[in-house]
Order: sequence, then C-alpha cells, then structure tokens
Amino acid sequence: MAFPTESLDELRNQSRDLDTGAFLAWALTTFGPSEPGVPSLAFATSLGLEDQLVLALLDEQLTYDPAPSGRIHAFTLDTGRLPEETLAVLHTNRTAFRVPVAAYHPEASAVEALISRGGPNLFYNSVEDRKACCAVRKVAPLGRALAGRRAWITGLRRAQSVTRTDLQRVEWDSANGLFKLNPLLDWSLDQVQAELARRGTPVNTLHAQGYPSLGCAPCTRAVAPGEDERAGRWWWEQADKKECGLHADPTAPAPARSFKFGGLS
Ligand code: SF4
Repeated sequence: MAFPTESLDELRNQSRDLDTGAFLAWALTTFGPSEPGVPSLAFATSLGLEDQLVLALLDEQLTYDPAPSGRIHAFTLDTGRLPEETLAVLHTNRTAFRVPVAAYHPEASAVEALISRGGPNLFYNSVEDRKACCAVRKVAPLGRALAGRRAWITGLRRAQSVTRTDLQRVEWDSANGLFKLNPLLDWSLDQVQAELARRGTPVNTLHAQGYPSLGCAPCTRAVAPGEDERAGRWWWEQADKKECGLHADPTAPAPARSFKFGGLS
C-alpha cells in the first residue's frame, strides 16, 4: 500500500465519529502494511489495563486474519526494571491473544554507561537523571520499535494526567515522525475496567493492589483512594513533569497537507 498523503486534519475528519472498534478497523486499513507481512502500524503496550483492552480489541479485529503479526506490530518496552507481575502479563498474553507482543530491550552498553555514571537508582537524583534513565531504557528502544512505521497506537486516556488533557485521538508525533493514535482517549477508568471484566481479559495483578498506572518497579508505587491515577508514577516529581519522553510532545505542530511519510513536504 502506498504511503498516505492525508493531512492530520483529514485523518481526524475520517475517524472523528467512529466508535473505538471502528476506529481501530479504520487504523488497520488506513495504515496497512507497506509490503506483505511488514506492518506499518504499531501498538505500544505497557501491559497495563488500557493496553490490555486495546490488545483485546485489536485481536478481535484480526480474528479471521491468518497472520495478524503482518498487520500490526505490537510491542512492549522491557526496560530491565519491570515488576515480575508485568512480565507475567507479557507471558500470559502469548496464549491469551493471537496478536504476538514483541519485547524491546535497552542497549546493554548504554545501560552499563548509565549505571557507571549515576548508579542503578540515579532516577531519584533529579528530573534530568530520571529522564536520562528513561532515554536509555525506554525512548531509544521505542525508536527502534517504531522505525519504518507510519503510525502507532497507544492506550493513553485524557483523564490520566494533566499532561494529557489536550490530546486528540489522532496526533502527529513529531519526536518519532509518525502519527499517533489514541483509541481510548475519552474512556474513563471505570469504563475500561468494566469492559475488561466483561470480556474476561487477563490483567496485571498489581492493579488490584492500588496501581492504576504501571511502569518500572522503582518508579511506581500504589496510590491512595482519590489520588490522581498517575500519582504513583515518579511520585517524587511535580505532576507537570511526569512524562518519560514516550509521549512528551502532544501539542507539536501538525504536518501540512500532502504530508508524505518519511519527512515533511
Ligand atoms: S521509569 Fe524509572 S527505571 Fe524505568 S526507565 Fe524511567 S527512570 Fe528508568
């Protein structure tokens, strides 16, 4: 399939009135494989609640596809600091879904340099050191996972954080040079939980222990009732600093009309 020439506005207009399932079907069609078996559409999962629901919905869309891995490149970032409970979800997903989830790891030499400089827990020192760790363990592997893709799907919801209130379902990701699709943007946490329960979808056991948002073990804690959903992520930092570089640029300038993948015209 040829690379799309739609602008961000055109993509938003095409998908504006679609429900979540139809939105994903539209994404699979719009961002079809660049060549047979080479998906242009990626899905990044943290193996948390929202992403388990997106995976279930994608699996449903591809029920009759003989090779779903050729339509969507689902992946997670195994930072090396994930909780055991999260890795257990990754393992369970192998049999729960037809869509396989690849795991991307940080470069060993970059991790060695990071720890040599600041120690294994340098993220507690400062925002800069925390971002340096995220850059090595998350952002660089994300770049490898997204290389050559035309769009990626996330499980972001607007209600999760003050840093996400301005998002739209279709965004331009200027940092990675591709479109970002947020199918669950307007879902509430209650809606996500109810839909997962209705489907019997496997979820991370940490959620039941007070972790609405999941990340690396040393950077995530349980939240108290009534606390913000992401209050347990990097809890020692201010709320408006709590992004790791994966979703740091939601309001970047959109591509002009007649955008062609691979660069702005
Ligand atoms: S969340 Fe914490 S441990 Fe994980 S990559 Fe970021 S700073 Fe490092």
